[in-house]
Amino acid sequence: MPELIITKHIDVPGIDRLSVYRQYGGYEALEKALREYQPEEIVELVKKSGLRGRGGAGFPTGMKWGFLAKNEPRYLCCNCDESEPGTFKDRMLMEKNPHQLVEGVIITSYACRVSTAFIYVRGELAYAARQVQRAVDEAYAAGYIGKNILGSGYSLDVIVHRGAGAYICGEESALMESLEGRRGYPRLKPPFPAAVGLYGGPTVINNCETLSTVPAIVRNGADWYASFGTEKSKGTRIFCLSGHVKKPGNYELPLGTPLRTLIYDEQYGGGILGDKKLKAVIPGGSSTFILGADKVDTPLDFESVAAAGSMLGSGGVIVMHEDTCIVDAVLRMTEFYRDESCGKCTPCREGTYWLVQLLERIEHGHGKMSDIDLLLDICDNISGKSFCPLGDAATSSITSSIKLFREEYEYHVREGCCMVGPKARKPAA
Ligand code: NAD
Ligand code: SF4
Repeated sequence: MPELIITKHIDVPGIDRLSVYRQYGGYEALEKALREYQPEEIVELVKKSGLRGRGGAGFPTGMKWGFLAKNEPRYLCCNCDESEPGTFKDRMLMEKNPHQLVEGVIITSYACRVSTAFIYVRGELAYAARQVQRAVDEAYAAGYIGKNILGSGYSLDVIVHRGAGAYICGEESALMESLEGRRGYPRLKPPFPAAVGLYGGPTVINNCETLSTVPAIVRNGADWYASFGTEKSKGTRIFCLSGHVKKPGNYELPLGTPLRTLIYDEQYGGGILGDKKLKAVIPGGSSTFILGADKVDTPLDFESVAAAGSMLGSGGVIVMHEDTCIVDAVLRMTEFYRDESCGKCTPCREGTYWLVQLLERIEHGHGKMSDIDLLLDICDNISGKSFCPLGDAATSSITSSIKLFREEYEYHVREGCCMVGPKARKPAA
């Protein structure tokens, strides 16, 4: 079993309470950071560790901190608005080990010379938000947050904010709009939040898992962290395994672990449900391109998954076995994007509506052969032409599934039913 970093203590009873968290070395990293490091030295440490963002884009964390404009006040937003279909790791981190996250938020705020930090929690995750709020309250009471933290002269306030259940508010600029009390519409980038962010100030925005990793890096050093993973994808990350596997769940693994290990190894996925054949995998949440079964030996690191034709994204690995109707699966994902489109720009607002119309028509046996290319044409008019990444994301499953499984779409049109799965019918003789 490889060494665990972020989930090392996740199953310790009571680890969500300050007293138990402390018994396992909790807040020692904060004490060390304040005692031994200047803020800029922590930025350098995290740069050297190779930590990259775990929200989806994989942007180098230390570099992002280094981009922060020098003017004040500066802000930190911890993005806990986890909503990507197939992704459920941040929820676990918040519910089970909220102090690890809070400690990461405090150390990062110190490193970035921030005096107000926000933890933005997805609206539906009521229990997670309560857990984080309680950890923040305990940290205030213990002097880890507030004025003159541990006598260091550094002061910080941390505010837990619950979203209202909109997927788009996980997009960093919409998150800031929402925090400022407006409707969650994305802002034009650049300027990036590091230059002009919350309330117009320089703002660092990092994902929950990213910040939960920071205490371990400060405690054990950059070289230690960089010894896990691959040359360009350092460390471990939590993979959220779901779909047709025997043991779905969150598994922390070194980056570069083969997809096959995650799916088939007894200590992880345990193989495909019913011992059926693997058909396809979405490697990084529903926004990423579908991969065929031939890619099962792809190492799960940013570079290898990109070379295989997709993205590591948010770490949401969705497994589909041979009985999955790909048109049905893609229709369900596209309905999600249609519902969650914020409506600000026309390609995404109108395009996702039309994609669903066409997919429904094909799925329910009323499609035309020309609808398949029409789907691709609409995707082409959304991807790269929308205001924010949600538009691009809406097209990933469609374009990749038509590339890999075009014959299933054609079968639907020709035979009026699914080629595989419970609704499948043999073609008329
Ligand atoms: P992005 O590549 O635009 O940006 C990544 C980060 O780097 C941002 O914080 C951005 O501000 C920063 N950045 C990039 N260039 C910069 C520059 N020149 N100067 C300063 N900062 C810079 O990606 P994104 O839109 O933040 O994220 C897209 C990803 O989010 C997708 O790949 C998807 O996988 C993922 N996603 C995750 C969830 C979830 O629930 N975790 C939901 C939807 C999408
Ligand atoms: Fe809104 Fe979609 Fe346009 Fe993004 S791409 S701004 S979610 S309408």
